[in-house]
Amino acid sequence: MCSDNNNESGRPVTPSEEDCCHSGCDPCIFDVHKRLLEEYERKEKQNVQMQKRKNILNLISYENFIVVKIEETSQCYILLSLKYQDNSSNTDRKIIVDPGQHVMLHLCGITKPFTPIFLTADTIEFLIRLYPNGEFSKNLRNIKIGDIIRIRGPYGNFKYEYNSFETIVMLSMGSGITAVYPIAKSIIDNEFEETKIHLIGGFQNILQIPLKKELQLLSDYWNFRCTLHISQLENGFPSIHGINIKSGRIDKESVCEILEDQMTNTTLILICGTRQFNSSVEQWARSMDYTHIHVFE
Ligand SMILES: Cc1cc2nc3c(=O)[nH]c(=O)nc-3n(C[C@H](O)[C@H](O)[C@H](O)COP(=O)(O)OP(=O)(O)OC[C@H]3O[C@@H](n4cnc5c(N)ncnc54)[C@H](O)[C@@H]3O)c2cc1C
Repeated sequence: MCSDNNNESGRPVTPSEEDCCHSGCDPCIFDVHKRLLEEYERKEKQNVQMQKRKNILNLISYENFIVVKIEETSQCYILLSLKYQDNSSNTDRKIIVDPGQHVMLHLCGITKPFTPIFLTADTIEFLIRLYPNGEFSKNLRNIKIGDIIRIRGPYGNFKYEYNSFETIVMLSMGSGITAVYPIAKSIIDNEFEETKIHLIGGFQNILQIPLKKELQLLSDYWNFRCTLHISQLENGFPSIHGINIKSGRIDKESVCEILEDQMTNTTLILICGTRQFNSSVEQWARSMDYTHIHVFE
């Protein structure tokens, strides 16, 4: 397999049979190849010069990454750091994934999507929820430092234009926080941004809350607010500096309460959770005349 997306002419290289895990994953490597080929042929027709990619990651072929850190961050969640295993002397490439985009991790014949939460030029970090009977979760429980995980990507069509909304309301459930946290961080890190962010996350219990320190750091900025809904709050309200804790699920009433204070035309709503959560929250937001909505799924 060629180590780049394209061959010398710029035409996307056809993936080999063994790169497909045949488990119906979305996006399948062959679907991505078909789309790239159509795009290539369209651009060829228009005689557009194809630019050589500088990204370490490829849309249609896997790159090897080494496990360099596995850390339990909270109940059911691990932080997994992977470093690019570079066998070439090519140093002008780096990992490029836009905030909110995801990649596909391939381990022991199974491929699943995950959203990077931290990046450096050659290291990529994920916050991953492990499910007791999850097939990928089982493989992840057995990995150790030095093991190889293969990655392809990035995927996802969310595009954010700097200062394009007055407010962004981020509604997430469980591991869905991985889609919205990098977007919040990139906005807060940009000193020219004036967008206000309200990140709302739902978790089962206090012990599950991941990224506590990171959310607290963002809360020190004037334009970031965080509210966490805990469905099983057993021992009263804990005090987590900078974070507003609420008892109960993110439901229609709480979503309406948050949205009724915002302007529909200058507010962007980002939603990421289970399929049921996404469709309910989107429906509630639309019923209040919000139209700038992006659902990560
Ligand atoms: C675009 C995208 C990005 C994603 N990014 C991340 C990420 O950054 N971090 C992360 O942890 N996950 C993320 N996910 C989910 C991830 O890809 C896996 O689906 C998840 O980790 C479960 O995989 P599994 O094979 O272990 O479990 P599976 O074998 O798929 O599921 C086993 C059982 O686990 C439970 N389960 C699985 N997924 C969920 C869920 N989402 N909510 C509630 N119960 C569930 C169900 O009971 C299910 O029957 C993302 C998903 C998408 C579509």
